[in-house]
Amino acid sequence: MKLFTVGPTQMRKEIMEVGGQLVPYFRTPEFSEIMLDSDRLLKKFMNAGRDAQSIYLTCSGTGAMEATIMNCFTKNDKVLIVDGGTFGHRFVDLCKVHGIPHDSICIRFDEILTEKHFKKYDNKGYTAVFVNIDETSTGQLYDIKIISDYCKRNDTYLVVDAISSFLIDHYDMDTYDVDATIISSQKGMCIAPGLSVVVLSDRIVRERVKKIDIKNLYFNFNEYMKDFERGQTPFTPCVGICMEMNRALNLIEEMGLENLLMSIDKVAKDFRKRVKELPVTIPAFPLSSAITPIIFKDKIAKKVFNILKDKYDVYVNPTGGDREEYVLRVAHIGDTTIEDNKMLIDLLRKAIKEAKS
Ligand SMILES: *Cc1c(COP(=O)(O)O)cnc(C)c1O
Repeated sequence: MKLFTVGPTQMRKEIMEVGGQLVPYFRTPEFSEIMLDSDRLLKKFMNAGRDAQSIYLTCSGTGAMEATIMNCFTKNDKVLIVDGGTFGHRFVDLCKVHGIPHDSICIRFDEILTEKHFKKYDNKGYTAVFVNIDETSTGQLYDIKIISDYCKRNDTYLVVDAISSFLIDHYDMDTYDVDATIISSQKGMCIAPGLSVVVLSDRIVRERVKKIDIKNLYFNFNEYMKDFERGQTPFTPCVGICMEMNRALNLIEEMGLENLLMSIDKVAKDFRKRVKELPVTIPAFPLSSAITPIIFKDKIAKKVFNILKDKYDVYVNPTGGDREEYVLRVAHIGDTTIEDNKMLIDLLRKAIKEAKS
């Protein structure tokens, strides 16, 4: 099996070795040390502020998005959401469920988010902006500077879902004054699903998390912050995945974050160059290095997906919604190389021919 998917990803051998080991008992100083070590690296890689605090949650990314909303926002807020696809829309759905007043900047599939989109929302009393910095459903990587500038001008909080961008594209929490960064194990970290992390600025902890009376036991961030002072969580974490995380972050530390980002960028660019040989197009908007959407002229995307899966045991990401028959997405993260690109292009060529016949 070979995965060109964005999460789960083609995991590295070193990570699968950790996954194959006995899951240790975790209420020990030794496990606490491992968690604190991971936390130090994680915060370093995202340049979290000196007093930033992390919440380690056993849930998928959506759970972390929902927990962030519950712990940081109330009915008295007014949130501006960048809704450019499936994940932007998830923020909208979450605000509806939790009764948080909100408006959306809707971005069409072929539209680029620019400064102009924000102009009419200046001085309108918004208290927060929610954005998925890589909208994974389209692959568009938004310009964080534009969004951060709006937040600074309007003195709003900034919540960034960096699930498919952190450890893939450059990401810097402190420079752009991000108040909450949401990540999830199965995407950028390229380990098994089940662990999600929210990294909070000192400001949002003081002004919101400590003040809001959350009606939820499992997701109460205050409990997580208290226990994490000694590297623990209030409830049993996904211990095995925490072990994978520590291995993954230390591997990145050894090779250097810049080198990792450069190598992903190289594989992504190589794929985007090679894919021109095929009868497909790729979007013109700025893309995250995580993924490349490939657009077919005919309604063959599902057929091509199934041929790759059933005949070659190779997986790419299908795309939901009204473009599902036209778009597939190819991920470039995890254990994926230029040699793998050559193989995939070759298989795509065969699959397209077969799907059209
Ligand atoms: C994958 C992803 C999520 C979370 O999805 P889950 O299935 O809940 O893990 C959220 N936001 C983005 C941008 C994603 O790519």
